Amino acid sequence: CGIVGVLGSHEVAPILVEALKRLEYRGYDSAGIATVNDGALDRRRAVGKLVNLSDLLVHQPLAGKSGIGHTRWATHGAPTVSNAHPHSSGTVAVVHNGIIENFKDLREELATHGISFETETDTETVALLCQHYKNQGHSSAESARKTVERLEGAFALAFLFHGEQDLMIGARKGSPLAIGHGDNEMYVGSDAFALAPLTDQITYLEEGDFAILTRTSLKIWDAEGNQTSREQRRIQLDA
Ligand code: GLU
Repeated sequence: CGIVGVLGSHEVAPILVEALKRLEYRGYDSAGIATVNDGALDRRRAVGKLVNLSDLLVHQPLAGKSGIGHTRWATHGAPTVSNAHPHSSGTVAVVHNGIIENFKDLREELATHGISFETETDTETVALLCQHYKNQGHSSAESARKTVERLEGAFALAFLFHGEQDLMIGARKGSPLAIGHGDNEMYVGSDAFALAPLTDQITYLEEGDFAILTRTSLKIWDAEGNQTSREQRRIQLDA
């Protein structure tokens, strides 16, 4: 229901939780974050209020300066820890707003490759498909692009990858996604309000956009696959 992502220069877990708090108004049943630390991807998830995730992070901290976070409003699969985002497969972690309408077809296709599922969510399919493309030898960004091309429905997505501390992927089709520009930092968020304490410099993705982010660069492709640019604006909000 709410997405945040940070390629930062400080420990990112508390920053992600703060940003998720600013998305609480949308409603949610569970929450989670994933980070890359020394190349290693790891995640923490909790059912219920964000305080449950914060408490978990006290006991099982998550280090790293790159991360993604999510507040979930379940559409496919009960509100459990294993159905909470980020969803992960191998070297891929993903957070998702919305619904993947063709996830059953994609599941069947993945099953023919011997791939099995741990959750009932539509979102897990996205992580598994992306890892499947990586296994075929495609780069992380290319695998994400090939994955997004296959998805039908309404979604906003952010991807993070094992071994890639300076890479995040954002995609938008039917659910809004804002990119925030910091000083040697880059962010994604479901809205500019979530990012307001971090930056007032915002680029809104348009329908069908696919974005590759590093701390210092933002590259965007439109729905036709052509590289494009979107206006970066100063958004005035109370932080
Ligand atoms: N359809 C996804 C799920 O049920 C995402 C729901 C959301 O937008 O929070 O996990």
